[in-house]
Amino acid sequence: MTRNGIGTEDHPLRVAIIGSGPTGFYTAGHLFKQKDYVVEVDVYDRLPTPFGLVRGGVAPDHQKIKSVTKAYDRIAVNPRFRYYGGVELGSDVTLEDLSKHYHQIVFCVGAQVDRSMRIPGEDLKRSHAATEFVAWYNGHPDYRDREFDLSQQTVVVVGVGNVAVDVCRILCRSREELERTDIADYALDAIANSNVETVYMLGRRGPAQAAFSNPEIKELGELEVADIRVPEDEAELDEASKAFLAEHPDPGTEHKVEILQQYAKEKRSGKPKHLVLRFCVSPTKLVAGDDGGVAKVEIVKNELYLNEKGTIRPRPTDEHEEIEAGLVFRSVGYYGVALPGVPFREDWGVIPNDKGRVVELDSKEPVPGLYCAGWIKRGPSGVIGTNKPDALETVQCMLQDVAQGKTLDPAAPGVDEARELVRERKPGYFSYDDWKKLDALEIERAKGTERPRVKFTSVKEMQAALGRT
Ligand code: NAP
Repeated sequence: MTRNGIGTEDHPLRVAIIGSGPTGFYTAGHLFKQKDYVVEVDVYDRLPTPFGLVRGGVAPDHQKIKSVTKAYDRIAVNPRFRYYGGVELGSDVTLEDLSKHYHQIVFCVGAQVDRSMRIPGEDLKRSHAATEFVAWYNGHPDYRDREFDLSQQTVVVVGVGNVAVDVCRILCRSREELERTDIADYALDAIANSNVETVYMLGRRGPAQAAFSNPEIKELGELEVADIRVPEDEAELDEASKAFLAEHPDPGTEHKVEILQQYAKEKRSGKPKHLVLRFCVSPTKLVAGDDGGVAKVEIVKNELYLNEKGTIRPRPTDEHEEIEAGLVFRSVGYYGVALPGVPFREDWGVIPNDKGRVVELDSKEPVPGLYCAGWIKRGPSGVIGTNKPDALETVQCMLQDVAQGKTLDPAAPGVDEARELVRERKPGYFSYDDWKKLDALEIERAKGTERPRVKFTSVKEMQAALGRT
């Protein structure tokens, strides 16, 4: 029994989770797994469909990764779980509304926008955030109408993280390869009919510091219609990196460098597309052509040095170069977005927190009843599974606070009252049953093809599929 008697059959602990990506589900799962309290969880998402970046971010040709949603389905069958899809915090319901119905509110909203490169020309036509391109080809309803000029022959992708790898790989896939994925229909056609022949991926540091992981970079060497190339001198380790690796041996990094050096030795096999990985170069300016769109990327060669914090950093030399390219994607990391009424650290793009307890920006005092987990808590790093222990840390804080009676004091903490609020504000909301129907229909639509599903990509389409007007 808690100090205020919450967490019993008669008075369940009522939790609202904002965001139905992996972290939202892991948070719900940890809450259901503990044995001390009876907990009811309502998950809100601004999209009709759940799973966040598993649906809208994970590359369409990485279906195995998406099977993680089976574990989320097992959480959702708990009778104390509810899903309110298509309901946005801020525009549909406010924090004040939720405080009337829940003892605790957890923000699991991820990092929704991109970081900027802060160079001239970044806002030119045909210069885009990779995150937008990813959302577009994955059929995210907010991005389906974006336009990317795939009539260009040369594309530059800035950054060497796993998102940059995804973007390069998708641009280099053939129609046959894409037809085995759940890429959005319009993107399948646009990419399969594209003129893209050469894709450059630019790393500002060297091969040993590249953020991509080894399986991802190996996969780039196995593309059906694209050869991979790394300039030999850029695959070599510089003195600073050699010394660093000698002092901090790391088999994973050594293997990564070996893979890249092997690519540097390979001759082109004559495949029609060409993927070039460059290292120790930074874009300094995007230059406009006659039509006002990107035509060239100016780059500077970097040298690497060990800084006072013990990190290998790049600094520009006086060697400059130009790459003629008509389309640019910056893939230099994601960034969190502030939620109305919730403290936010603008400099890091995260909610200030102590192990998941939301704290005030200045006083660092915990804000009663508010928590966060996942990318909005720690920044955009790690793989899907990283969010499981992260969510557990937050849930442990939540349970400690419940034990001490430190929760919100909702006036109407019932399932029905919360549902009434949602019905009133967003009569056309989507339940988990609605999602399961859409899921089955998407799979049905792909019957007779090699595609795992054909996605609905607009809210209207989803409503129509459910027979709503
Ligand atoms: P990331 O791994 O942090 O990579 C960002 C890249 O951008 C780094 O190469 C970084 O270089 C570079 N960068 C940052 N600022 C730059 C600048 N001003 N100029 C040039 N380059 C710059 O981020 P991400 O690729 O967006 O991925 C986010 C997270 O999702 C990562 O943890 C990633 O592993 C994960 N993810 C995983 C998968 C998968 O498992 N298949 C797929 C997609 C994403 P520096 O290192 O020099 O800063």
